Amino acid sequence: MSEIVAKEIIYCEVCSYPPEYCEFGVSFKRCKEWLLEAHPDLYEKLYSDDALASKVSTLSVEREEKISQDLAKKQLKEEAKQERELQKKLASKVLIKRIERNRRKHIISISGLEVFNIDMKKLSKTFASKFATGASVIKNAEKKEEILVQGDVSDEAKDYIEKLLEEKGLNGVEVEQIDEKKKKKPTTPVVA
Ligand SMILES: [Zn+2]
Repeated sequence: MSEIVAKEIIYCEVCSYPPEYCEFGVSFKRCKEWLLEAHPDLYEKLYSDDALASKVSTLSVEREEKISQDLAKKQLKEEAKQERELQKKLASKVLIKRIERNRRKHIISISGLEVFNIDMKKLSKTFASKFATGASVIKNAEKKEEILVQGDVSDEAKDYIEKLLEEKGLNGVEVEQIDEKKKKKPTTPVVA
């Protein structure tokens, strides 16, 4: 004679879900306390370190997938952003103004470089030593940095800047030279 044992279905007395689903309820902490008391074996099966560890690894696979999807999205966004920035750079213009101070003295002002991530201080120093003259970085009326170089070096500065932009893969950028005859009030240098 064999005894037929009906398979016992356990429902949580706290939240009434099967214990596997307690974590989706609002009383998970109390559910666990109840389960530990009422069905320690099942508690062990669900919440032992081993059980939790295998659960964590499943979760982390899902998380990894989510993360890589997010990453792919971010990368697309970043690529679009870089493309926009490149277009902005290509559409920008560098302006080299040749300003006549008196009949023999000239100064040039270089503006429009700020979008190209060029270190203005360094470039100013390069010009100073390359042309053996004074050069400084100033903030212009639009609060943008400009390089002032003493001397009639507009052509040389243009060549140098074009080379610099070319090295950054920005050969399409226009470097315009203009002559300004009128004497202008000198701007205050902020960086020597
Ligand atoms: Zn429960």
